[in-house]
Amino acid sequence: MTAPGHAPHRFPVIDNELSIGGIALTRLAERIGQTPFYAYDRRLITERVAELRSILPADIHLHYAIKANPMPALVQHMAGLVDGFDIASVGEMKTALDTPMPPSRVSFAGPGKSVNELRQAVAAGIVVSLESELEMERLALVGSELGLRPRVVVRINPDFELKSSGMKMGGGPKPFGVDAESVPDVLKRMSKLAIDFYGFHIFSGSQNLKAEAIMEAQEKTFDLARRLAAFAPGPVRLLNLGGGFGIPYFPGETSLDLKAVGDHLAELMPAARQDFPDAEFVLELGRYLVGEAGVYVSRVVDRKVSRGQIFLVMDGGMHHHLSASGNLGQVLRKNYPLLVGNHVESDSAQVATVVGPLCTPLDILGEKMDVGHGRIGDLIVVLQSGAYGLSASPTAFLGRPFPVEALV
Ligand SMILES: *Cc1c(COP(=O)(O)O)cnc(C)c1O
Repeated sequence: MTAPGHAPHRFPVIDNELSIGGIALTRLAERIGQTPFYAYDRRLITERVAELRSILPADIHLHYAIKANPMPALVQHMAGLVDGFDIASVGEMKTALDTPMPPSRVSFAGPGKSVNELRQAVAAGIVVSLESELEMERLALVGSELGLRPRVVVRINPDFELKSSGMKMGGGPKPFGVDAESVPDVLKRMSKLAIDFYGFHIFSGSQNLKAEAIMEAQEKTFDLARRLAAFAPGPVRLLNLGGGFGIPYFPGETSLDLKAVGDHLAELMPAARQDFPDAEFVLELGRYLVGEAGVYVSRVVDRKVSRGQIFLVMDGGMHHHLSASGNLGQVLRKNYPLLVGNHVESDSAQVATVVGPLCTPLDILGEKMDVGHGRIGDLIVVLQSGAYGLSASPTAFLGRPFPVEALV
């Protein structure tokens, strides 16, 4: 289904009302007892993982990047679906270790890990993704103090970019990882330290909808790993190929051609298995696993007309959903897909601008969208809100109440 709301979505509409996790939206709002709230549909998450498994080669393992959505219940659900977790803080480490996922299947990336955080990671027995040479020296020290051999993958800042990415995280000067050309020296130094070399981590970008760009980056990733493996102090046991799979947010965007990516990976795998006989191959995905399974729901508090324009004023806004307001990395503001969740289709063709309650013109959820039939008390749904929603938002701004999150 596309219009209204402009993005394809997989939530059933029954009697003109959106259904989340098999529950009609107004009833779900009663059950939760308040607006605003986030709701994540566990069946859609399960189906997304199953779809990936059916299309990707069987020995491509899937990791969930917790940063996309760290809600503990969701991460618990994910623990039964994926092969590992990628974390970017010790807060996320706690969430990961509270699940049944074995620590050896959790890896910790991110620049600026403190000595104390490295100690916690080594004590936990998780894999550390090395971001710099200094971090390696600190890890060796921490390991000797604890009497443990830190297990390490080297995060490589590649000498190529993931083209057409919403967010580039590799190629050129970057704070992430070790520059590809410096990796041989770092590996040489590592061979003199009490560190267990485990493999490579190459993450080049995020939010990509172009299969060709992802395919090209994956090919270059294998080639780079081949070149650098020659300098490694041991066999590559883990090759994290990154991810970057995007989801459509804005008018005109279409879903990633997953089949093309899967077919291409299947072509690359025979050579990869031969060149890395001891390796586990991993894709780390955040947004792609959870983004389309989540909604943000707020209620219309006021409906006003200012100089001919309709405004719906909501009880939620940018303080809960910075991404949808356009203030998290967008240069030109574009609308996330919106619906009147309890009254999806309407004969009225009125457009309205949907704003939050904060005293700032930045607090916009949707500009001039076809939700002008929304009335006081109606529930406005922001789709594509399962990733980089609540945890990426300035919840303290203006001291308004916190939303509830529910996995249904
Ligand atoms: C943020 C991040 C991810 C997840 O990116 P998505 O776009 O949500 O899939 C994966 N790996 C690393 C290293 C990251 O920093």
